[in-house]
Amino acid sequence: MYKKMTELTYEELLKQIKEYKRKLREKSLEAEKLKSNFLANISHELRTPLNSIVGFANLLNDSQLNNDEMKTYIREINRGSESFLKVVENIIQQADIETKRVEMLEEECSVDNILDDLFSSYSDTLKKNSNLGPELRLNNKIKKKIKIFTDPKKLKYILSNLIDNAIKFTSDGYVEFGYMIENDDTIKFFVSDTGIGIPKDKLNVIFEKFRQVEEGMTRQYGGLGIGLTTCNNYVEMFGGEMNVESIYGVGSNFSFTIPMRQSVLKIPCKYIDKLACSMS
Ligand code: ADP
Repeated sequence: MYKKMTELTYEELLKQIKEYKRKLREKSLEAEKLKSNFLANISHELRTPLNSIVGFANLLNDSQLNNDEMKTYIREINRGSESFLKVVENIIQQADIETKRVEMLEEECSVDNILDDLFSSYSDTLKKNSNLGPELRLNNKIKKKIKIFTDPKKLKYILSNLIDNAIKFTSDGYVEFGYMIENDDTIKFFVSDTGIGIPKDKLNVIFEKFRQVEEGMTRQYGGLGIGLTTCNNYVEMFGGEMNVESIYGVGSNFSFTIPMRQSVLKIPCKYIDKLACSMS
């Protein structure tokens, strides 16, 4: 139990001030380290795809190229452009959240169509990368097709980020995503993988801005450490909750709920009789 200020002896007060100062110093060193990490990471994350775009575009200048070489170089330019755009998009989304310039644009959308689109686009990407990496699975056991009112762009953004991460951190095995109906009012999406997993003491940290399990110059995986922060912010805006379960070395399961407003066409009873009459 902490004592009240007035109950402290001079020595105790001095000790508390020292402790407070030490904590402040620790926090400011931590913030400084995060800032340097972020600056180093961002320069790497932007330079790598840009170098690849410029390099392969220069190679395309060679008029002696055969068809296959041309296709390979164009594929690399496309791949570089996609990852460059992803980095820029992630930064813009997070900046928009921080400056409170985000609007929820609700419309009726089919959950299954969103998941099918993601599945076919990620399957194509994995195939283009010479079938390396995990097997992609879409878990759509729910027979009834669900339509809900939500912001489809943001929902896709969250799922894409989780799938990107799952693929990045999984070299063998599978990445599976899908959804389930929790109850009448809640839908739960999940992305699970058989990848490297996350140590227990980092499970909360990874949702903080710029934080990653591996930090510093010896990182094996790329990334800026803002994707999960943005996803978590969006899920909160939806009024849902984000959760992660993971076993280090075995795999992870990210899931999030969003309140469900189903777009079921409700016909008031008084019209049902009229409808029946007009049909008979
Ligand atoms: P980024 O992936 O760009 O570093 P994120 O905010 O998306 O940023 O993720 C933060 C960190 O959380 C990652 O760097 C990684 O350490 C950890 N992480 C996220 N998803 C997974 C996953 N599926 N498996 C293992 N680690 C993960």
